[in-house]
Amino acid sequence: MLDETLPQDLSTGHPAAALSADPAPGLAHDPGTGHRRPPRREFKARGSFTERCAGCNLPVLNCLCPYRASAESEARVWLITHPLEHLKPTNTGRLIRDVLPATEVFTWYRTAPDERLLALLDDPRFAPFVIFPDDQPDYAERVVGMEAVGAAKRKDKVPVFILLDGTWRQARRIFRKSDYLDRLPVLPLATSRVTRYRLRKPASQAHLCTAEVAAELLRQSGDGEAAQVLDDYFDAFNVSYAASRRYEKLEAPTAAMRRLLARHGG
Ligand SMILES: [Zn+2]
Repeated sequence: MLDETLPQDLSTGHPAAALSADPAPGLAHDPGTGHRRPPRREFKARGSFTERCAGCNLPVLNCLCPYRASAESEARVWLITHPLEHLKPTNTGRLIRDVLPATEVFTWYRTAPDERLLALLDDPRFAPFVIFPDDQPDYAERVVGMEAVGAAKRKDKVPVFILLDGTWRQARRIFRKSDYLDRLPVLPLATSRVTRYRLRKPASQAHLCTAEVAAELLRQSGDGEAAQVLDDYFDAFNVSYAASRRYEKLEAPTAAMRRLLARHGG
């Protein structure tokens, strides 16, 4: 199966190249435009890129499985994931569940709220917060700061960060079209961190991907170790996937990878 997120430079870009039987593709000219074509890549290279590990779903060239690690945290994460996001191998929400096994993942359907999610929202053990920017006035009275997470812990509640996992547009739609979220406090993530995510082009460097948001929330709310492990695991994912897209086998583990491996050793 071809990767829908394959960047432009890895697809042929020139449909004629795929059909041509030209024996010297590096020198060939596109019959339509007369422009010189880029050299064709070997079909095998593309095939090995799309061959995925059954364990981590990354290209086998740089598999993530050796770096998988888990951690303990006081806070939990529940993901409400847009159905289109589940299909994307570049989704980072799943990294959170690898690191924090208590993470819940719900698929969002506008007309059919998940019954289990509704039950968990009513469970008095939890103090759920919807993570969303505070940039609109109509829900300003629901906006809280990180101190509300500390207050929930002092009341022996488990704080829960509800992340809306999708594109920015999908997340806004989930926020606006899910009335069961309307009564929850809204916790905006305040951070000057810029994204390190390389697999999709962000609208802005300030737009963090889902795993980065979770790591930052954990760090700010006092789960420093879990935050570090998730950050390192995200880093390993990001570097491994980006290298595989360049058909490049990583020669040596990065600093983040070495920290994850050391956790296994200890
Ligand atoms: Zn793997």
